[in-house]
Amino acid sequence: MNVTRVDHIGIAVKNLDEMVKWYEETLGVKAHGTEIVDEQKVKVAFLPIGQSELELLEDTTGDGPVARFIEKNGEGIQHIALRVDNIEETLEELKAKEVRMIDQTPRYGAGNASIAFVHPKATHGVLLELCERK
Ligand code: ZN
Repeated sequence: MNVTRVDHIGIAVKNLDEMVKWYEETLGVKAHGTEIVDEQKVKVAFLPIGQSELELLEDTTGDGPVARFIEKNGEGIQHIALRVDNIEETLEELKAKEVRMIDQTPRYGAGNASIAFVHPKATHGVLLELCERK
């Protein structure tokens, strides 16, 4: 497995438009578009900063993972995403190491990525996303 960088930090927000505006006006970073990912019940905006990005996530249905996160923890950092060269190989290696996973196979992630989540029980509290970009 080859983990190459922090790809992005996922931040759960209640109001995506407001928070995009806040980051743009306060920090001078620019969002590159928004995307709705139905599978994860979120609307997403990426704000590139150097080689990494902030991923702002707003729930779209009231019962998705981001809504549940905010209910439990309030707004804030929800996950950290690590870029990997090959997500299939990475998942095979983690399975061999008996790492507890949320996703056994890759699924679609915003920005046309291939992603899989490691269970926070395996990382002692961090929701870790593995992310391969084409
Ligand atoms: Zn993410």
